[in-house]
Amino acid sequence: MKKFYNRLKFNHTLFYHQCQQWLGATLPCVLCDAPATARNQLQDGLCAHCVATLPWYTSTRCPQCALPTVAGTLCGICLQHAPAFDRTLAPFRYAYPLNRLLHQFKYHQQLALGNLLANSLLTQLTTLAATERPQIMMAMPMHLNRVKERGFNHALELAKQVHQHSGIALDIEGCIRVLDTPTQAGMDMKTRTRNLRGAFATHKPWQGQHVMIVDDVMTTGASMHAVARVLKQAGATRVTALVLARTLKSDDP
Ligand SMILES: [Zn+2]
Ligand SMILES: [Zn+2]
Repeated sequence: MKKFYNRLKFNHTLFYHQCQQWLGATLPCVLCDAPATARNQLQDGLCAHCVATLPWYTSTRCPQCALPTVAGTLCGICLQHAPAFDRTLAPFRYAYPLNRLLHQFKYHQQLALGNLLANSLLTQLTTLAATERPQIMMAMPMHLNRVKERGFNHALELAKQVHQHSGIALDIEGCIRVLDTPTQAGMDMKTRTRNLRGAFATHKPWQGQHVMIVDDVMTTGASMHAVARVLKQAGATRVTALVLARTLKSDDP
């Protein structure tokens, strides 16, 4: 009976998303406000000019943490202190105007942008060989307080779309964030790692699984490392990080 009522419960996020899709044809470009016309057709909320200015991440990089390296070899940090995750896939650098798009998506609930962002994540999966394809995926866990504050978990919205189009199983509560740590902006990797001790927990056995974790931005990789460590302690054999954007020193203002 409870299940039946839950099904009847009004889903505000979904309704909002649906309205945005209905209105999508008439809304201007999210970034430059150019109106949608026959000559200026928008793709997932953006005009062609703005799509071209997105900071696609094209240079060679460390396969494990996605920092730039010559010829795509492992970087010095991963050679000395390897993170608990094994691979990072990132279509973008965290730079203008992607940072603005992500802000709109996360804080202004522009969920229509999720299509564009999820599509760029999906193209990363096509670069993987069949043996490198994860068996199961999850979103970077967000503390319940933050979900209530924001109304949705942006990483989970992206993960849902990736799951729908890739067919990779999605685990929604396999790992949870039990500590609501303060915002980590401006902290270095060591401080962030210290801050995140005990922040994540799992009660699920992950024996032999190759798990993929979806998130929006990887800054130092401390959160990804903390989740991957918990999953590996619970038996996971491999963890792949799928993030929209990687923060690079060269993009710092
Ligand atoms: Zn535009
Ligand atoms: Zn590295």
